[in-house]
Amino acid sequence: ATPISTMIGVGRAAERGVLIRHGEALQRAGDLDALVVDKTGTLTEGRPRVTECETPGSSASLSRETLGLLVGIEAGSEHPLATAITQWCQKQGATATEVSDFQAHSGRGVTATTHDGTRLALGNPALMADHGIDISAVRDRVETLESQARTVMLFAVGDELRALLAVHDPLREDAREAIARLKKAGLTPIMLTGDAPATARAIAHEAGIEEVEAGLMPEDKHAHIERLQQAGRVVGMVGDGINDAPALARADVGFAIGAGTSVAIESAGVALMRNSLHGVADAIEISRATMHNIR
Ligand code: ADP
Ligand code: MG
Repeated sequence: ATPISTMIGVGRAAERGVLIRHGEALQRAGDLDALVVDKTGTLTEGRPRVTECETPGSSASLSRETLGLLVGIEAGSEHPLATAITQWCQKQGATATEVSDFQAHSGRGVTATTHDGTRLALGNPALMADHGIDISAVRDRVETLESQARTVMLFAVGDELRALLAVHDPLREDAREAIARLKKAGLTPIMLTGDAPATARAIAHEAGIEEVEAGLMPEDKHAHIERLQQAGRVVGMVGDGINDAPALARADVGFAIGAGTSVAIESAGVALMRNSLHGVADAIEISRATMHNIR
């Protein structure tokens, strides 16, 4: 494409809220054949809400003490899951119990200690295993909720399993339609996430995505894109978070979605100002028109 037709393409994309940072991203977009999409905040709204909160082995609701400890431990975390849990507990009238030694464990959850030295752990089954907490009594319940696209967290106070919490983060309204459009354009969508495999598969199914890699650490996303490229694929990546920056930079074309952290926007060639995956399909269409049909 000539510099003029590239400029026209960039301008057309901008009219649709798709900001292309350099001509190379526009030229490359039309060649993409795989599109890696992050789950949380990309396919989903990124605003999880608590849908279930249960006492293992009992129909009783959580005690005030448990609710207070939950708010106390999540006070240290900035994760969207922490916001969801805190808001829910506060709605039940909980106030934070002060805790110390807060620690976040990537891909697992959070831990802290109470004033009397009791250890608190809140997170996924892997975190419970790290702390020797037996979760066999809730395993079936966890599986059922995960197959309903819930992210399930367990809360242990000392050696006692005190709570099971499930959150749901709905798909973006137009995600399924945009994925269908991208498939029609010849791209294979691939969902990558740190969430549990069953939860990830349930959400991918809602979105119309067949390929899923779950239980990943942020570095794994980057490595997965490299493997696809080594296999000869031209790979796009859509992401929203700080964690996604290395993968966005590694992809042949990176697309930043969501209010996007500034880190994500800087690592991406394209910014989707309307927070819609339709912007990726728009960029591909405009790229193909620009490269093949110079006007
Ligand atoms: P991702 O953001 O890709 O879903 P994370 O590494 O942030 O992956 O989290 C993986 C899992 O660890 C979550 O699904 C959850 O079970 C647990 N977890 C992480 N942070 C928290 C938190 N603040 N509170 C409770 N659980 C958490
Ligand atoms: Mg994330």
